[in-house]
Amino acid sequence: MKILGFGAHPDDAEIFFLGTLLAFKAAGHEIGWVVASDGAKGGPNPGPALARLREGEASAAGKPLGVTPVFLRRPDGGLSEDAGLKAAVEAVILAEAPDLVLTHAPEDYHPDHRALSRAVSDAASFRAPVLYVDTLNGVGFQPLYYVDITPHMAAKQMAIRCHESQRPERFVTAATALNRLRAVQCNAVEEEAYAEAFRFEPRAPFADPRGLLPPSPPVRPLGRRTDDVPTAFGQR
Ligand SMILES: [Zn+2]
Repeated sequence: MKILGFGAHPDDAEIFFLGTLLAFKAAGHEIGWVVASDGAKGGPNPGPALARLREGEASAAGKPLGVTPVFLRRPDGGLSEDAGLKAAVEAVILAEAPDLVLTHAPEDYHPDHRALSRAVSDAASFRAPVLYVDTLNGVGFQPLYYVDITPHMAAKQMAIRCHESQRPERFVTAATALNRLRAVQCNAVEEEAYAEAFRFEPRAPFADPRGLLPPSPPVRPLGRRTDDVPTAFGQR
């Protein structure tokens, strides 16, 4: 299969769904991602120089993974569900012909993310199933599926750190905490288990894409003790 992720900003793929892309890659599938905006507003000195810098950071993150991101170079902070964004997204989907598409959730916190989410799910209609990725810190997001990304967490953290202009350590911390929490929600026992969470809308003709996805974290059988419940801080 070919799996294609759409992120609004140059570091979104790494923060929100890179672990899952790497799980697909490890299973022999082709992966890629698209950066919709130019990232020109993501720093104290906004403008074209920052956009160029951030494109270089995204390329550097993709390089060791064998991925050359596709850059749509739409205005940062100004993504809207207009004809231009829709046409650009549709052109990529037609050119790449993905078997599965990942993008932000419609309930995401960032207006750019929400605009891209709508454009991608419209463009992918009848072409590929769409999987919505977790929100930052999981706010307002109700997962329907979890992917075990434990073997890929270190590579994900390294890729986030490629975005040096973004003070990336705060995003490494946030993604690590969220991915740990999602693993704990699946009753994963290992202290170092991590998961990315997703949901989908059951729409014809791709009512349930879960059969395409890499495995969830392995489930530990619960013991008899009623307090035998894993927490984010380990097993109690
Ligand atoms: Zn973003």
